[in-house]
Amino acid sequence: MAKKQFKAESKRLLELMINSIYTNREIFLRELISNASDATDKRYYNALQQGGSGLNRDELFIELTAEKEARTLTLLDHGCGMTKEELEQNLGTIAKSGSLDFKKNNETAEDIDIIGQFGVGFYAAFMVAKHVEVISHSMETDEVWSWKSDGSDGYTVEKAERAECGTTIILTMKDNTEQDNYDEFLEEYTLRNLVKKYSDYIRYPIRMPVTKSRMVEGTDKDADGNDKTPEYESYTEVETLNSMVPIWKKRKGEVTEEEYFQFYKDKFYDFENPLRVITSSTEGLATYNALLFIPSHAPYDYYSRDFEKGLQLYSSGVLIMEKCADLLPDYFSFVRGVVDSQDLSLNISREMLQQDRQLKRIESSLEKKIKSELEHMLKNEREKYETFFKEFGRQLKYGIYTSYGSTKELLADLLLYTTSAEKKFATLAEYRTRMKEDQKYIYYAAGESAAKLEMMPQNERLREMGYEILYLTDDVDEFTLKMMREYDGKEFRSTSDDDLGIENETEKEEIKQQAEDNKELLDFLKEALDGKVSAVVLSGRLKTYPVCLTAKGQISLEMEKVLNSMPTPEQQKVKAERVLEINAQHPVFTALQQKYAADKEAAKQYAMILYTQALLIEGLPVEDPIAYTNAVCNLMAPGQA
Ligand code: ADP
Repeated sequence: MAKKQFKAESKRLLELMINSIYTNREIFLRELISNASDATDKRYYNALQQGGSGLNRDELFIELTAEKEARTLTLLDHGCGMTKEELEQNLGTIAKSGSLDFKKNNETAEDIDIIGQFGVGFYAAFMVAKHVEVISHSMETDEVWSWKSDGSDGYTVEKAERAECGTTIILTMKDNTEQDNYDEFLEEYTLRNLVKKYSDYIRYPIRMPVTKSRMVEGTDKDADGNDKTPEYESYTEVETLNSMVPIWKKRKGEVTEEEYFQFYKDKFYDFENPLRVITSSTEGLATYNALLFIPSHAPYDYYSRDFEKGLQLYSSGVLIMEKCADLLPDYFSFVRGVVDSQDLSLNISREMLQQDRQLKRIESSLEKKIKSELEHMLKNEREKYETFFKEFGRQLKYGIYTSYGSTKELLADLLLYTTSAEKKFATLAEYRTRMKEDQKYIYYAAGESAAKLEMMPQNERLREMGYEILYLTDDVDEFTLKMMREYDGKEFRSTSDDDLGIENETEKEEIKQQAEDNKELLDFLKEALDGKVSAVVLSGRLKTYPVCLTAKGQISLEMEKVLNSMPTPEQQKVKAERVLEINAQHPVFTALQQKYAADKEAAKQYAMILYTQALLIEGLPVEDPIAYTNAVCNLMAPGQA
């Protein structure tokens, strides 16, 4: 029969497996057992959907048989099985499996590391076997197919026999070499230990015929009834090797951190350990066991529409939903894990689940738990928390924004912002305690990076006065603060706001006076800028800078940038109401006054130059770069340009 070829990526991974010098070969068994368990879940789930008829969980065991003579290890399950197409799809390519995603995202990662850090699935079989046969009977058809392969040179598929649905995998072990002994994987002792080590919590019995020895009855006495050396015979008995207690049902002390990590990585296809493991079990209004994880990094699609939140939902150890979204509020959507509750009915539909009171109770209990774990981390493991926040902080901020501030109580204390004082993360509470006695507001400045904000003219005065400023660098930041309005009795205020609450009465009077004295000039400048700004004013917030641009009203310049960066029709684009502020103490202002008196045309040019400089400082696009350049050249070499 003609051999079919593996897809290119599969072939490469396969070669790696076959020639692997990786010492942890034993994981092949864990991989195959976990596939068998998943397939059994699917079958059971499917039966429940159809009304649960005729399937007894006890019959859904997984069986291991080792034949030493033939050097084969057989793994049999009663799962959903695979059709011919599925055999080819699933075993002929790894394009769908997590390993490849991992590879894609980590092009430079050492190949061997993939094997070490990550579940490699079915292909792990080739680390120990020279020949693999998979006989499968899908629950969807009556046909049975056998898939065979000797490794990377391809595979064949042909018809076969198997009465019940499920899958049988027959591994023919590699030949022993001087360094490697593959026979050990045919030893009862090894297999028993491997199952205990890696697959103890699998919820289906993993059975194996084991050889035992017993006394032949009546052989311990001679004919006269005296003791004698008895005779022994060996017999086989099928034993269940795993305890079947799911890891989330075990008490915390019974499970090592390493076991939790391994469970997480296998189950959620992550190659890194989670930042935090959360266990929770309650009785009472909502009875459940939960095992949750806070990943150490966001999945590549986390901040996209494709990302689906949710926890795996079990009812008394039986999987009823792969991703139950109702268990997690959006702002905690990064949490992965498992929830097992005996209060939920097994064949509950998705629609019913949404209204389930029990589920709502579990959700709110989990929410509290997650929050308190995050707080704990923030308090006691600051560095870890900051790692977490860099990955998922945006989601918390979105949570406040999209709830129009109603989740503020819950989330505000979990937020971190870089501030002008220490250039590192601070919580709002920390900022609050550091506030100066006379400080009216919590100041913030929004922009691209802390470094750029550091140079913003608007912030000069405030910084000089020793007021700390929150540096907002996420696009959602300013929107979030607007929704929160205040924290602990202090209003948030943008450093570009009209009123910063810093000038004293005399200062205010002075500026007002100066503005009156220069009213004609300011009006002229506004006119010269021809609709680009809604006002030109004298500023109390500038010290060394000549000008800055601020905004009146609800929409700040930064918000204008963010909103307009989203795909919106031109006529719906928003525009902040721009105000050009001029530093009356700056020599440039004097120059402006003189020019205005002497040469109106030149003063117009000055207006344009100053406005453009304000745009540049703000990081906004210059509307007419050529005109600006010409004007500057004209200043340098008057009358030439
Ligand atoms: P992964 O488990 O990461 O998806 P694998 O390479 O282990 O990758 O398996 C690929 C696919 O083959 C599985 O997703 C599953 O659909 C199918 N499969 C593997 N083993 C079995 C089995 N024992 N019964 C039914 N389907 C299986």
